[in-house]
Order: sequence, then structure tokens, then C-alpha cells
Amino acid sequence: MKIKKLRPEFLQNVPDELSEGVLYISEEFATAGHLCCCGCGEEIFTPLNQAQWRLIKNERTGTVSLYPSIGNWKYPCQSHYWIDKNVVKDAGPMSNRTIENVIKRDRRDKDKYIKEHNQEARDHEDNRGYISRFVRWFLDKW
Ligand SMILES: [Zn+2]
Repeated sequence: MKIKKLRPEFLQNVPDELSEGVLYISEEFATAGHLCCCGCGEEIFTPLNQAQWRLIKNERTGTVSLYPSIGNWKYPCQSHYWIDKNVVKDAGPMSNRTIENVIKRDRRDKDKYIKEHNQEARDHEDNRGYISRFVRWFLDKW
């Protein structure tokens, strides 16, 4: 890893131009940004929320950690590291299995959405079925 340490910088907005070795943190917009620690220059943004990354601040030492690790499998460098108390720790190449799990998790979220969506459509169908049965019953009478 080319960059071995990140200096946290708290500001309102993550700037457009990022500098190497700085972890820009906007608590207001719940996001952090830095240049990939392998030195490839990719801008890595990590949304800070329950489902994505957690920022752990140590007020006493002025250090920050990000949890979980940063896995840049979308970028050519495929670098993978931890930011632990400002120190960049190589997490080793990501196994295909890890990448698969990430993809699977994304897909699960999507499946859940589709399922809920379909259920709504089905409920709607049921209502229609009920009405058409009623109409048929009504027509039979006449
Ligand atoms: Zn990189």
C-alpha cells in the first residue's frame, strides 16, 4: 500500500479535489472521501450509515477508523484495506468469495424489493378477481 497513513479532516463538504493521504469526512452529509491508498488516484467515497460504513472516532487521540474494510473491487487496482486509527492496513486481495458475497447481498436487497412489489401487484389482482367473480355472479342472476 503506497499510502500508509490517513489524516482525518472534518469539514462540511468533501472537496472536489482530493489530496493523497487525507480522509475527508463530512458528518453533515454522512460521507467520507479519500484517494485510493494504493496510489492509483481513484476517488473512494464511503457513505457513513448503518448499512454501509461506520466511522469510529477517538477524540482523545484524534484518530479515526472505518468499519468494515474498504474493498475497491470495482476499480482496476482491486485494493482492499482497513483504515484503523488513521493507519492503512493491507487486508490482502479480496477473494472471489468475498466479492461474490457483496454481489449476493446487493442482489438480496433487490430481490426483497421485487418481492414486496409483486405482493402489492398480487393484492391488486386478488381484488380484481373478487370483483370479476361478483360481476359473474351478478350476470348469472340475470
Ligand atoms: Zn487503487
